[in-house]
Amino acid sequence: MSGRPLQIRFLSSATRTGQLPDSDAEVAFVGRSNVGKSSLINALAHQKQLARVSNTPGRTQLINIFEHAGGGTLVDLPGYGYAKVPGRIRKDWPEMIEGYLLEREPLVMVFVLVDGAIGPTPLDGQMLAWLRENEVPHTVVATKMDKVKSSKRASRKRDLADGCRLDVGDIVWVSAAKGVNVDQLRGLVVGHLTPAR
Ligand code: GDP
Repeated sequence: MSGRPLQIRFLSSATRTGQLPDSDAEVAFVGRSNVGKSSLINALAHQKQLARVSNTPGRTQLINIFEHAGGGTLVDLPGYGYAKVPGRIRKDWPEMIEGYLLEREPLVMVFVLVDGAIGPTPLDGQMLAWLRENEVPHTVVATKMDKVKSSKRASRKRDLADGCRLDVGDIVWVSAAKGVNVDQLRGLVVGHLTPAR
């Protein structure tokens, strides 16, 4: 892995937006469970245990907030798709997350993680539609790109982008395992947290 690590440290967990500390600027990471969110946050920070890989029960349903040394905060939202009852995100997903995304004042960017090896799931599609509908600023990050054969990568990227109704160039293509484009994503995160003053 290369690049300077993202300097973040765990601050606290919350069950609702009102319990979160003040922040100048905040970015959030969201995606269905097992998408590789913990691995990616750990790769950004060059730490193995910052966000738990294969989340421990009990912490999975919490909003976990990290303080960035250069200013601002980073939030790890619970993975969606945990609930047993199938259906719309509104049913599946705790109300607190919708509340967070709609009400959290310092929130400047939501990074929506989509599994690059399997493409967007119907839940991912619903999530993106909901974010668009509610005009929540977001960027799609495709994870686990090392799992896609290089010969298939170009067509997979096109299919995934089509599935998200985006252009290939709108998506950040990463592999936490191989450290691919983690620097690029880190740059985006830092840019949102510490805009030119
Ligand atoms: P989370 O539930 O979204 O936090 O996902 P995790 O970070 O716990 O990862 C879920 C599984 O995917 C684990 O077995 C990880 O080792 C694996 N994984 C995560 N990122 C990558 C990646 O970039 N490449 C590969 N090949 N596997 C990954």
